[in-house]
Amino acid sequence: MHNLKIRFLALTVPLIVLLMAGAFVGMDFIVKDVIDELGRNFTTKEVLYNRSRSLTPLIRLIALARVLANSPTVIEWAKDENDPSLKARGLAELEVYRKAFPDGSYFFVIDGTGNYYSNDDRQSFTGIELRYTISPDKAKDAWYYATKRKPKKCQLNVDNDIEIQVTKVWVNCLVHDGGTVVGVIGSGIDLTEFIQTAVKSKQAGVTNMFVDGDGSIQVHSNFKEIDFHSLTNAPDERKTIFRMADDENGRDKLRTMFKRLKADPKQVEIGFLDVQEKRTLVGISAMEEIGWFAVTFLDIEALKLSKQFVPIAILMAGAIALTLVVIAVLLDRTVLSRIAKLEKNVRKVRDGDYTIDAYDAGSDEIGRLNDSFMEMAGRIKEYTQELEKKVRDRTVDLLNAKEEAEKANQTKSEFLSSMSHELRTPLNAVLGFGQMLQMDTKNALSPKQREWVDAVLESGNHLLDLVNQILDLAKIEASEVTLTMEPLLVSEVLKDIEPTVIALVKTEKLELSFSSKANFSILADKVRLKQILLNLISNAVKYNTPNGTVEVTSETQNGIVRINVRDTGSGIPAELHNNIFEPFYRVEANRFLIEGTGIGLTITKSLTEMMNGEIGFESTVGQGSTFWVSFPEQS
Ligand code: ADP
Repeated sequence: MHNLKIRFLALTVPLIVLLMAGAFVGMDFIVKDVIDELGRNFTTKEVLYNRSRSLTPLIRLIALARVLANSPTVIEWAKDENDPSLKARGLAELEVYRKAFPDGSYFFVIDGTGNYYSNDDRQSFTGIELRYTISPDKAKDAWYYATKRKPKKCQLNVDNDIEIQVTKVWVNCLVHDGGTVVGVIGSGIDLTEFIQTAVKSKQAGVTNMFVDGDGSIQVHSNFKEIDFHSLTNAPDERKTIFRMADDENGRDKLRTMFKRLKADPKQVEIGFLDVQEKRTLVGISAMEEIGWFAVTFLDIEALKLSKQFVPIAILMAGAIALTLVVIAVLLDRTVLSRIAKLEKNVRKVRDGDYTIDAYDAGSDEIGRLNDSFMEMAGRIKEYTQELEKKVRDRTVDLLNAKEEAEKANQTKSEFLSSMSHELRTPLNAVLGFGQMLQMDTKNALSPKQREWVDAVLESGNHLLDLVNQILDLAKIEASEVTLTMEPLLVSEVLKDIEPTVIALVKTEKLELSFSSKANFSILADKVRLKQILLNLISNAVKYNTPNGTVEVTSETQNGIVRINVRDTGSGIPAELHNNIFEPFYRVEANRFLIEGTGIGLTITKSLTEMMNGEIGFESTVGQGSTFWVSFPEQS
């Protein structure tokens, strides 16, 4: 990724996603906590509300029934049921209380006879209060005997009539005479309406119920859940609240809650348990006055509280996204775009384009960087222009100098060739006449004169040789040498020069080892190749020591043919190796001892290279030198 923006996006997008995910996880956590807390508060309120609403009429009913059960008039009558005055007073007392009871009814069972007296709010049974006689044999009268067996003074008994959907709570109080039960007296209260409003909560997910001390469900919006006739039902047949929990764990939890409430009835117990596979909040409050418990089940999910948080979540996500967009835009404006512009300018300058766009970069780090860069670019531009001018000026100077040098060289070559020509003509005449003098037998020269003529001829020949060499060099420098390149057999060239070499070596009394057998072919100018070889061989002869050896060999390796000329002469000191091929260079020691011009090797090197060859040597002082030339082998 070569682009800062892309890199920024590549870094920030996952970061945003991560941040959002983190925010949502955090939010979810907080929301769950808040919902739980809300649920707890809601359940507490609900359970307390139901408790107090239902308790008020019940407490009144129980209090009244209790006072009635303790009424001496009632007790006296129960002891002597058939006494007319006691009966009249007893019934009058009951009538007083009937009016005070919430639903205007009462009942009284006198234990001795089992006679059941009652009247209702319409006074339907005035005068015929004795309705019937209960019997332990009748199942519908079992409640009486069960009540009698219980030690509690007043007991509640819920009577739900499924058919007409009427729920009536009966208060049954024992009438004692000393320690003996002489009857059961009480009244009822119709809770149907109350249940409709309280238990059948309008709030979705809320189930209210009332249970007795054993957990048997007494009041429930669903009639099927109610444990009818709890007083008479066997314990294991009862419909208890514990059955509602999904597992034993839940049941244990409920039992613990009940235990705690019994110990401290003022508290409200709140806890979570699974009911029908739903996480349910359970609130329980004791109704110690009547021995019941108000219970509220709250299915938290059904409250749909989390929905309330959706707008907050959306708002939060929006805020995060907006913040990030703002950050991205700001970052782009303050950093990325400016760096991109700067980079564009840097590229331009790098490519030699100084038409950079100036822009207001500000006074911060990037701004200062931009300013410094602009300044630097300005200077580079100045220096470059200055340099270019200098190069142009120098080039012009150089071209002029080159032109002048070429002109001078031309003049020199012209001078040399015309000089050589001018010199050669009279020199040839001198040599010609000298030779004629040498051969003139008629006018015999004196020995002295003959010596002089020999000297003239020798000096003349040397001069001619020198002039020829200078002319050669001049021609080479003026590129006037034309070569006739042709495939040549090295052995043949060597054979051609062999007689000259033998003669040369002979005069100096040197030993010659000349191998001309090599059957290699190269591309070269025959005359110039011979000139090259004779030049190297004549040096090997000239700079040899008395009784020394000259050895000429040839070889081929990796497509290169090499001809070596070895001597056993004085050798060339290492520090002079670089100068040997310079024109007119001569090793100082030989300068006046051995005849020479110092341009033989210069010409040899130029000719070799013109024929695509190479020249070189190895030399050790006191041991001798090996000069060689090499050419590509012709196949
Ligand atoms: P010249 O022989 O006319 O002086 P060259 O150009 O042929 O000129 O050689 C240049 C110099 O290199 C010579 O003066 C000599 O000192 C040295 N030189 C050339 N060949 C040899 C050799 N085979 N051994 C020793 N010195 C040599």
